[in-house]
Amino acid sequence: MTSKRIAVVTGAAKGIGRAIVERLISDDYFVIAADIDAVGGQELVAVFGENQLSFEAVDVTSESGINALFDKIDQKFGRLEVLVNNAGIIRDNMIWNMPAEDFDLVISVNLKGPWLLCKEAARLMKRQNSGRIINIASRAWLGNRGQTNYSASKAGVVGMGRALALELGKYNVYVNTIAPGLIDTTLTRNLEPDVLQKLIQAQPTRTMGKPEDVANAVAFLASPQTHFITGQTIYVDGGKSIGAGG
Ligand code: NAP
Repeated sequence: MTSKRIAVVTGAAKGIGRAIVERLISDDYFVIAADIDAVGGQELVAVFGENQLSFEAVDVTSESGINALFDKIDQKFGRLEVLVNNAGIIRDNMIWNMPAEDFDLVISVNLKGPWLLCKEAARLMKRQNSGRIINIASRAWLGNRGQTNYSASKAGVVGMGRALALELGKYNVYVNTIAPGLIDTTLTRNLEPDVLQKLIQAQPTRTMGKPEDVANAVAFLASPQTHFITGQTIYVDGGKSIGAGG
């Protein structure tokens, strides 16, 4: 048993998720790191130790897996202060080349997964009359060529967060969305170099963001000192969402 605030972070093993884990641990949270990548998860335990973090090998698309995770949290801690839905994937293609399976997979991981976790977290947080849910969407919810599946999934995350903020407001549970732009992780490093350079040059800042930039926004929304902000989407995108070039 711990007296620290408890946070669940999905997609915690690498990239933005890992930066969120590091930041929340430095803010004195106990983090339940959930990821499909069990090897990366064990590495997290080795780095941070069991007093600061536990790892759960979880596929966010598995309803039974998510239910088992929250049963465990309820039995062990009886509370949950923060949920960060961060796990996400891309399967980019122009729509005429995109297999329907890649639409289903991206919607399942990026939208249904967060919905399953929100549902379980909402039960706990409603009961305790407090909590913070932070969903990581993407600036791409506004639309990106080659990402009909991804943009749709992230637009769904934005809409889900707004609806859930309405449902949970009276229970003192705040639900907000972060929409990162181009952030330096394996997800972006796997892009063709010339494609990545073009994307960087299209940024108002001409730079990529760092995972820590997203983690800082998460820390702000998760903080017990942050009040009266719910149902909002915060862009961490170097101004790209302004949309007027520059
Ligand atoms: P990443 O480096 O690929 O890390 C994502 C993590 O999630 C990986 O450990 C991955 O495991 C895990 N994961 C994938 N499918 C999962 C599942 N079904 N269940 C549980 N875990 C799963 O990605 P990232 O760049 O940090 O992105 C994190 C979030 O930010 C995503 O939601 C992404 O859409 C969003 N985002 C990223 C950027 C960017 O520029 N990087 C921009 C906007 C939004 P495996 O590696 O084993 O698949």
